[in-house]
Amino acid sequence: MKIDTLAVHSGRRIDPSTGAVTPPIHLSTTFERGPDGEYPHGFSYTREDNPNRKALEECLAALEGGKEALAFSSGLAVATALVQGLEPGDHIIAPDDVYYGLRKVIGEVFGKWNIETAYVDMTDLAAVRAAVRPTTRLVLVETPSNPLLKITDLAAIAGIARKANAISVCDGTFATPVLQRPFEHGIDMVMHSTTKYVAGHSDVLGGALVTRFDNYLFERARKSQRYGGSAPSPFDCWLTLRGISTLPLRVRAMAESAARIASFLGTHPAVETVHYPGLAHHPGHEIAARQMSGFGAMLSIEVFGGKAEAMAAAARMKVFTRATSLGGTHSLVEHRASVEGPTSKTPQGLLRMSIGLESVEDLIGDLSAALGRTIP
Ligand SMILES: *Cc1c(COP(=O)(O)O)cnc(C)c1O
Repeated sequence: MKIDTLAVHSGRRIDPSTGAVTPPIHLSTTFERGPDGEYPHGFSYTREDNPNRKALEECLAALEGGKEALAFSSGLAVATALVQGLEPGDHIIAPDDVYYGLRKVIGEVFGKWNIETAYVDMTDLAAVRAAVRPTTRLVLVETPSNPLLKITDLAAIAGIARKANAISVCDGTFATPVLQRPFEHGIDMVMHSTTKYVAGHSDVLGGALVTRFDNYLFERARKSQRYGGSAPSPFDCWLTLRGISTLPLRVRAMAESAARIASFLGTHPAVETVHYPGLAHHPGHEIAARQMSGFGAMLSIEVFGGKAEAMAAAARMKVFTRATSLGGTHSLVEHRASVEGPTSKTPQGLLRMSIGLESVEDLIGDLSAALGRTIP
């Protein structure tokens, strides 16, 4: 079945006791045992499993075309579960521009665990190959990346990881399963911050880990979810699954607007650079065209005049909301360097935009008015 159908039907059944078309929310933390001591419906205690979580996991696995999925309380809970599955002395290869929260998980949560990490430019395949060690167990890739929208060749990275006997994990948050299918390029597992596009309404935190086949890191992540207690609540699962129903429609509409906005900004005199993989001059354009079915709805621009002009332009926007995060219905703009703090390598003149569901004319009008006064 096509992803649009899976997004509406996967994980949902008509409720047999009431006929309800929309699934009920099962808040119960505990489930009745049969007289034989067994659990006839397969549920015993909500930390371990719950009908809403099971439904969400079924749907997430179907969307990616994977074998199985685990739902977590946030995207970073997925990262935490993955690193927890490693042994002291193990080595990770991660993108040099990895989502900054992931760097914090590795460096600050696991700082004392003797996990070694090489942060590498994943677009430089020779550098990735050179970073491999006998102890490399996990190769992380994030494409498109944040906030420069760098594109990594998934098939090439999957090949390097396989040769190294390491597990490759793609953070597919920006692309969503609608626009990019990492398993078709040989990637072993996919993670998402479902907080973003998957749930899609900026009202629920969540994360997902989807696997293509059984492996020990996935099994250890399952333990972290069930016994470590990082599962999402039934209501969070319900909201996320509801959001998924419109995921394909939302993502395509937003990506269409983003492409129009990127070409508008590309010729704007106040804008020094536009980072959007759909533009022909973007260094990752060819790979993106090959491995994605659309270029997504995230873009960033660098304005002339550095931080002061970037902040001033964002301050003048009226339709775009100044806020972090992405993938919701509201278009958001963010001065990324100030969010990432003093160690950030993000250019000071950079504004990242998450294009939402407003009219593209209104969004372009807003940008036009806000940037008009920045023209040098
Ligand atoms: C937001 C984000 C995360 C972290 O997810 P949370 O749900 O905020 O914990 C991880 N990776 C990417 C690419 C993200 O955008």
